[in-house]
Amino acid sequence: MSDGQFTFISRDDVSSVYKAVQDYLIERRSWKRLPRDSDRFNLMLGERNRLPYSKLGQVRGLSQLVNYYRGSSVICRKVLMIKTLKQYCTTSNVPLFEWLPVSYIIYPKSRECQVSTSIPVTRPPQLDERNELLGIDKSFKSSGKDVIWISKITAGSKGEGINISRDVDELLNEIDSQKSAYVIQQYIDPPLLLEGGRKFDIRCWVLLDAEYSIYLYREGVLRTASELYSLDHLGDVTAHLTNHNLQEERSPNFGKYEDGNEMFYDQFDRYLQDKYNITMETTLLPQIKQVIKSCLGIIKEQINTDGLDYKCFQLFGFDFMVDENFKVWLLEINGGPACAQRLLPDLVRCLVKTAVDPIFPTDPSEQDEDNLFEKI
Ligand code: ADP
Repeated sequence: MSDGQFTFISRDDVSSVYKAVQDYLIERRSWKRLPRDSDRFNLMLGERNRLPYSKLGQVRGLSQLVNYYRGSSVICRKVLMIKTLKQYCTTSNVPLFEWLPVSYIIYPKSRECQVSTSIPVTRPPQLDERNELLGIDKSFKSSGKDVIWISKITAGSKGEGINISRDVDELLNEIDSQKSAYVIQQYIDPPLLLEGGRKFDIRCWVLLDAEYSIYLYREGVLRTASELYSLDHLGDVTAHLTNHNLQEERSPNFGKYEDGNEMFYDQFDRYLQDKYNITMETTLLPQIKQVIKSCLGIIKEQINTDGLDYKCFQLFGFDFMVDENFKVWLLEINGGPACAQRLLPDLVRCLVKTAVDPIFPTDPSEQDEDNLFEKI
């Protein structure tokens, strides 16, 4: 095998995971980086929404791979994810997924709004689910249920554009003063809490390879709250929202309980075993795998590359919460996730091994044996 047998280009200033992929490939003798505008390359790395898919499949006989599935945003934006999942259930005439919190798509009453950061649209009234929301809220309340709602801006991240309230009108009024689509969702309560009573969510990394096989990374991370969970103060963001950046910026207790408010599976498993006599493997992971397979299965027809002259792979970040009955709930799917620093080198190595090496096989001496991506 000659050095630089395979070639890659980087179209953009790629995210941290793909920066690390670039560095990893450059270290390997079999890969060579070409200038960004080259036409003959095997692998294109770029940022989603900016990838020039039309450049792919143009050179006859050249096998090409790119790091995002085109169209995967149908499950990677909050509003679109709810729309896609609900529409699937309606058209297939099946009950709504029980792992999806009761959710409604809300558009501000103003005429123009944005579904994503880049596409302004005129408010499509047929998609606004405000009346259904008000109806459900009323029926919950008349049955004496203490219902709490969380509103989330569609293109938000890092906890921005999120409000929590028992008063659904308050959330709707706030949305009406904005220009973006939102999801209003039932607040999952009571959540499973960590020792001492803090909330957490779970980030799982999922890899979809060029054959549309789905892999779950064996390691994940719990993002933990810095303050104790209590329903008395719904505005206490550092008790209710477990986003890493928000905790870091807003809580003096950031890092007090866990380094960087991150807990890894081994520690969480010890906690589950000691306190509840269960493990992630027995109780949570089967549910998590089912959710992942359902979500990616639903969009397979829409995004797979059958019939195209190039192939894709994509790393997703699935975010979950667990309630006090150990039921797993899907919060959101990130189409271009970052990775905890501690896990990054192995994740990158295993990503290349799973999604790139089978298409561009390199010398086995360049490959490690173990693979932390498990096919599900
Ligand atoms: P972002 O894109 O800002 O990360 P998320 O949907 O992940 O938005 O929500 C941010 C945080 O809010 C989550 O990490 C979780 O702690 C909390 N959260 C989101 N949705 C719910 C919900 N339905 N019930 C309870 N907490 C939630």
